[in-house]
Amino acid sequence: MARNKTLIVGNFKMNLGVGEASLYVHELSQLVKSHNDVEVVLAPTALALQTISLQVNHRQFKLAAQNFYWRDHGAYTGEISASQLRGIVQFGLVGHSERRHIFHDSDKDIRAKVQAAIRNHITPILCVGETAFERSEGETAAVLHDQLIGGLANVTSDELEEIVIAYEPVWAIGTGQNALPHDVSMAIRAIRNQIKHLYGAKASEEIQVLYGGSVTADSASDYLVLPDVDGLLVGGASLDAHAFSDIIKKAHKGLAAKR
Ligand code: PEP
Repeated sequence: MARNKTLIVGNFKMNLGVGEASLYVHELSQLVKSHNDVEVVLAPTALALQTISLQVNHRQFKLAAQNFYWRDHGAYTGEISASQLRGIVQFGLVGHSERRHIFHDSDKDIRAKVQAAIRNHITPILCVGETAFERSEGETAAVLHDQLIGGLANVTSDELEEIVIAYEPVWAIGTGQNALPHDVSMAIRAIRNQIKHLYGAKASEEIQVLYGGSVTADSASDYLVLPDVDGLLVGGASLDAHAFSDIIKKAHKGLAAKR
């Protein structure tokens, strides 16, 4: 994805029912003005995607699936495919740490989901990040390297243009323990270096990379001002429409400050 827009993604996780999510979107739409330079993406429960897709002004908000299966159709009881989400969502989270660690999504699953998203014109947001233990062992760059190789194994240079990467240190997700901006810069530098190694310098400069991990309205600007950060993936703080709209406003100002 081109880096001309700051991407702010709200991941509701398994919170808010259909009615609540719909009310939330109505409230948020009143609080947020459309900015040409900020793309707001909402990832509510899969149950609410269809309703919200009919409700929202697509110039104001885009939608993301929190998860999907990599096959397009068939006997896979309980699953939702990227082909079923096509036309309803524009983005899909892939490799979120909760999927990797609670549901054991493997690199093989993750790379198949990246492919399924691309095949169905859905932009995958590929999440990568190290655990606290890996960090303490000094393995952050190696983990990012492996997760990028794992997730992008079948991705061509042309397809890479349709992908967003999110750096989400596992220890920072949902813990209130957000990463220091300097450490985020270093990690995203490592991600861009890996992309450079795999796809060349132009691709590494052009790929959109987000930060996620306990971001709040108070901390958002600390990351948004970093030259390598192109947006935020927000979990907990996205559940409060006021807090999330403050983050969106900061993204608009943050981009203005970078220019
Ligand atoms: C997330 O769900 O990707 C996330 C970053 O959550 P939180 O903001 O709650 O840490």
